[in-house]
Amino acid sequence: MISKDATPTQIEKIGSTGIRVFWSDGHEATYPNPVLREACRCASCVHEWSGEKIISAEKIPPNIMPTKIEAVGHYAVSIDWNDGHTTGIYAFDYLKEICPCEVCDAVRRQGS
Ligand SMILES: [Zn+2]
Ligand SMILES: [Zn+2]
Repeated sequence: MISKDATPTQIEKIGSTGIRVFWSDGHEATYPNPVLREACRCASCVHEWSGEKIISAEKIPPNIMPTKIEAVGHYAVSIDWNDGHTTGIYAFDYLKEICPCEVCDAVRRQGS
């Protein structure tokens, strides 16, 4: 599991398939593009009041890719997508939560 105070030391695109985040605690997290796009929690992807998800897998183009990845302060990453979506912000804590690797997945399943 990614430690609570870890921050990304490096973020890179993996070809056209996803992005990889290197965390300061040594954890290496790989996020497939469609998963990350669907995980967006901005006001146009998640209903502000109800928390209901507006974005769905069917609405995401199969060739979805980040066009820009940028750090926002010391707490989040903003990602612009090639489907024209440019309001996505992913807090570091959130990225830790959704790390799809086997280790984090196992910890999550134990915890819930
Ligand atoms: Zn969004
Ligand atoms: Zn992980």
